[in-house]
Amino acid sequence: TEAPPSQTPPPLTAEALAERKMRFLYAVRSKGVIDARVLAAMEHVDRGRFVRGLFAERAYEDMPLPIACGQTISQPSVVGLMTQAAEVGPRDKVLEVGTGSGYQAAILACLARRVYTVDRHRRLVREAEAVFADLGLANITAMTGDGSFGLPEQAPFDRIMVTAAAEDPPGPLLAQLKIGGIMIVPVGQSDTVQSLIRVRRLETGFDYEELRPVRFVPLIEGLGQDDAG
Ligand code: SAM
Repeated sequence: TEAPPSQTPPPLTAEALAERKMRFLYAVRSKGVIDARVLAAMEHVDRGRFVRGLFAERAYEDMPLPIACGQTISQPSVVGLMTQAAEVGPRDKVLEVGTGSGYQAAILACLARRVYTVDRHRRLVREAEAVFADLGLANITAMTGDGSFGLPEQAPFDRIMVTAAAEDPPGPLLAQLKIGGIMIVPVGQSDTVQSLIRVRRLETGFDYEELRPVRFVPLIEGLGQDDAG
C-alpha cells in the first residue's frame, strides 16, 4: 500500500533557504520596515521555526499563514511595522496579547528587557514555549488566559502589543500602560478592514493615532481561556 503523503515538506537546501530569507527581508523592507534594530531582529529570528506542517515551506513569504486552533501567524511586514511603531527599547517590559505562533513575541524579545505574552489557547502557548526554549529566548514568559484583562500582577508595562482585533482598545490594557508608554492595537470589527492604532499614554490622558488598515482575527473578550485548545 502507498504511504500517506507527509505533512512536512522535505527540508530546503542551505542555498535555497538563504535565498528565501534574503527575499523575505527584502519584502519586509519594501513595505516600510526601516528601523535597523527591528530588521536585525527579523533577520535573527527564523520564521520557519514558528510554522508547522503543510505551510512550513511558505514561512518566508510575506503572508499570514494558518496555525493550530484556527488561528494565524501574522504577515511578517505587519509584524515589522507594528514592532517599529511600538518604538521598543532595551529596558522595556512588554506585554503581548495573542501569542499565536510566538513569532511576534520572539521579535519583541530581541528588542526588550522582558516580554510577557498571553493566549487563550493552551496548546498555542505550549508550542510557542517549546520554540522559545529551542531558540534560547529566556526573557519571554508565555501564559494561557484572557489577555483582554492584561496581566495586573506584572503591570505597568512600557509597551503593549495586541495582535488580535478589538472593538475598542480594552480598558484594562489602557490602565496597565505606563505614563509615556505605547500600545499598538488593531481596532474594528473582525470581518472588516480594521485600523491599526498607536495609543500613547501621556500625563494628561491618551493620544490616539491611526497608522494603517490591517486585518486580524478577533480578540475574544470576556470569555476566559480555551482549555480545550
Ligand atoms: N502574535 C501572533 C504570532 O506572532 O503568531 C499572531 C496572533 S493571532 C493573529 C491572534 C491570537 O490572539 C490568536 O492566537 C488567538 O488565540 C489570540 N486571542 C484572541 N483573543 C484573545 C484573548 N482574549 N486573550 C488572549 N489571546 C487571545
